[in-house]
Amino acid sequence: MSKQRNILLVYTGGTIGMIKDPITGVLRAFNFDKLLKRIPELNLLDCKIATVSFNEPIDSSDMNTKYYIDLVEIIEKNYDDYDGFVVLSGSDTMSYASSAVSFMLENLSKPVIFTGSQLPIGDLRTDAKENLITAIQIASSYINDIPIVPEVALYFEYQLYRANRTTKINAEHFEAFASLNYPPLAKSGVHLKFNTEVIMPYSKKELIVRKVLDTNVVILKLFPGITKATVSSILNIKSLKGIIIETYGSGNAPTALWFIDLLKDAIQKGIFIINVTQCSGGSVNLGQYDTSIQLKKIGIIDGKDITTESAVAKFMYLLGTKITAKDFKKVFETSLRGEIT
Ligand code: ASP
Repeated sequence: MSKQRNILLVYTGGTIGMIKDPITGVLRAFNFDKLLKRIPELNLLDCKIATVSFNEPIDSSDMNTKYYIDLVEIIEKNYDDYDGFVVLSGSDTMSYASSAVSFMLENLSKPVIFTGSQLPIGDLRTDAKENLITAIQIASSYINDIPIVPEVALYFEYQLYRANRTTKINAEHFEAFASLNYPPLAKSGVHLKFNTEVIMPYSKKELIVRKVLDTNVVILKLFPGITKATVSSILNIKSLKGIIIETYGSGNAPTALWFIDLLKDAIQKGIFIINVTQCSGGSVNLGQYDTSIQLKKIGIIDGKDITTESAVAKFMYLLGTKITAKDFKKVFETSLRGEIT
C-alpha cells in the first residue's frame, strides 16, 4: 500500500480564494480555510492536507520580492514535515513568482506546485477545483519514496509545466499559461500522465534557500520608433545593474550607431545586458542576422530561449549572489534550474 503523503497548501492570495461581493460584484479575499471546508472532494484524496495563508492575502499584482522571501521561508520551515507543497496564488504574476522561487530553492527535492484559477473556488463554473485537486495529487505523487516532480512547477487547466518556462498568455481562457519552449511535465486527462524524461532529476543534496534578491533591473522592450532619449534615460537609471532587452525575432535590434553606442557605454560601466526575444516562443540566436552581430561584439548576454519572467528572476537571483562580473555572462547563459536550453 502506498504511504499517505503530507501536503502543505500555501495560500498567498488571488482569485482562487476570493468571493464575489453580491452587491458590487468586486472580487475580494476571503478566509481560505473556510473556503476549503466547502470542498468535500478534498477528503477523498489519499493525503493529509494542512494549510497556511499569508496574513493578508494579496492580488498577485502586489507581489514583490519581500513576499517571495515570505513564501520560501514557509517552505523552508516546513520542508522536513511535508512531502509536497502546493502554492495557491494569483495567476497574473505567477510565472514571475514561481520562476523566482525556482532559483531561490537550490537542490530542491520535493514538489512545489503553483496553481490558481480564473474563477473563484465558490463560483459555479470554477476551474479552481480541478486545478487544486490535481495540483495536490501531483505534489503527493511518489514512486518508491521518491517524488515524481522534484521541482517548482505550475499546474493549470490539465497541464503541468516547469514553472520557469511559463508565461501567462490569456486573461480569460481557463488555459491561461503556455510553455512554448519546453514540453509539459505532465498532462491530466482520464489519467495523470507524467513525462518523466523532461522532469528534473531527484537531488540528494541538501536544500539551500537563497533569500537575497537584487531588484535593480529593468526590462526595455524595443519597438520601431523608440527614441535615443528613451533608451538613454533607461540606461542611465541610478543604481541600475541589469537590463533585459526584449529584442525582435531571434535577438535582433536596430543597427543605428547611437543605439549600439549607448549599450556599449552601459556595458563598459558594468551594467549587464541580456538579450531576450519579445516573441513568445523560439530563441535568441546572436549572429544569425546582421542586426545582432554588433550586439554580440559589445558583449551582450545571450538569453537564448529564456522567458522574460524567468530572466527577471534569474537576474535578481544572480545579482544577489557573490558572482564576479567576469563569471556573470557565462553563468547567465547556463541552465541553473532548467530555465534555458
Ligand atoms: N488578479 C488576480 C491575481 O493575479 C488574477 C488571478 O487570481 O488569477 O491575483
